[in-house]
Amino acid sequence: MMNTGRYGQYGGIYVPETLMPALVQLEREFLKFKTDEENNFYYRELLANYAGRPTPIYYAANLSKNWGNSIYLKREDLVHGGAHKTNNAIGQALLAKVMGKTRIIAETGAGQHGVACAMAGALFGLKTEIYMGEIDILRQNMNVQRMELMGAKVHAVKTGSRTLKDAINEALRDWIKNVEHTHYLLGTAAGPHPFPSIVKFFQQVIGEEARAQVLLKNKILPDYVIACVGGGSNAIGMFSAFLDDRQVKLVGVEAGGEGLDSSKHGAVLNKGTVGCLHGMKSKVLQNEDGQIQEAHSISAGLDYPSVGPEHVYLQEIGRVEYTAITDKEAVQTYYELAQSEGIIPALESSHALAYAKHLCEQNKNISVLINLSGRGDKDLAEVEKYGQSL
Ligand SMILES: *Cc1c(COP(=O)(O)O)cnc(C)c1O
Repeated sequence: MMNTGRYGQYGGIYVPETLMPALVQLEREFLKFKTDEENNFYYRELLANYAGRPTPIYYAANLSKNWGNSIYLKREDLVHGGAHKTNNAIGQALLAKVMGKTRIIAETGAGQHGVACAMAGALFGLKTEIYMGEIDILRQNMNVQRMELMGAKVHAVKTGSRTLKDAINEALRDWIKNVEHTHYLLGTAAGPHPFPSIVKFFQQVIGEEARAQVLLKNKILPDYVIACVGGGSNAIGMFSAFLDDRQVKLVGVEAGGEGLDSSKHGAVLNKGTVGCLHGMKSKVLQNEDGQIQEAHSISAGLDYPSVGPEHVYLQEIGRVEYTAITDKEAVQTYYELAQSEGIIPALESSHALAYAKHLCEQNKNISVLINLSGRGDKDLAEVEKYGQSL
């Protein structure tokens, strides 16, 4: 391959030989797509008129007053579908169409990416099949209904822990068998090359918009840019525009679950070790025998036992700091944003908000830009259940 997609020693391709032709073809077609004016124009047009971009930057005046510093929110919760996942789903579905594929498949954990793919499948007239762990299907039935409503078929995955990790394995197996007419629409900036670069390419719009918007408003860049990290797609989309602005501190926030000292968390960058999973070299939550440990978080979108390889690299070179927020802190901030601004954040995004609150307690006169990756109506039942268990 022309470029094996390394970020330092991370990333790369660790797959069975049978998958190589699919990845080689995908890289070739993606490189063409990236520089094709017509495709890019069409993608931008869909972002604008289908997804509702650009999303605004909102100066959260009430929250800023409460926290004693300036807080800006990048409103990805306003994207059609309710989260940033739509940017990637329509981008890759368009790429699939251009490649002449007639079918897309995808993994989903909580169902958010599955829903985004079902939307994109309906939009482009692509046959859509989603792999979802049996346990997740029970937990997230509403999203299953949404996917089916939009014409997607949902396969229950009954292997392994019957959650996201196994759904990815099943989707990879399907892809090997059906690569001729099928595109695997991976949902985050992880997996074998070229997926991390593809997903980053389609999420970069977040950071590009945000940087221009904040400059237009303030004439100066924020002191901090913060995003939550599951697989790392919304964070890399946001950070990529600021990487060269050395004065801007970048912070990725992982799922601290019940606490980093407990066994129940999803803090891969804080607690994981170097290993291979899902075709890439990255950090992984694993025991000494290399068995994958399940990630835990109140926000289903953050419990992936690995993370996109570029984040491990950015952590290693010290450009981005990765920290973690517990379930409890995330839930508190969920309420706080709802009550102070009338905006219900996704529990995933609440992790980024909660870390901003910590920063505000320790600093004066800082400006903080937070990526509000999605809206939180979906989390209401979970939050109420959590409140009752306290
Ligand atoms: C899926 C999801 C995430 C986590 O995924 P990343 O790839 O890390 O961005 C974060 N926020 C929301 C709202 C999500 O739906």
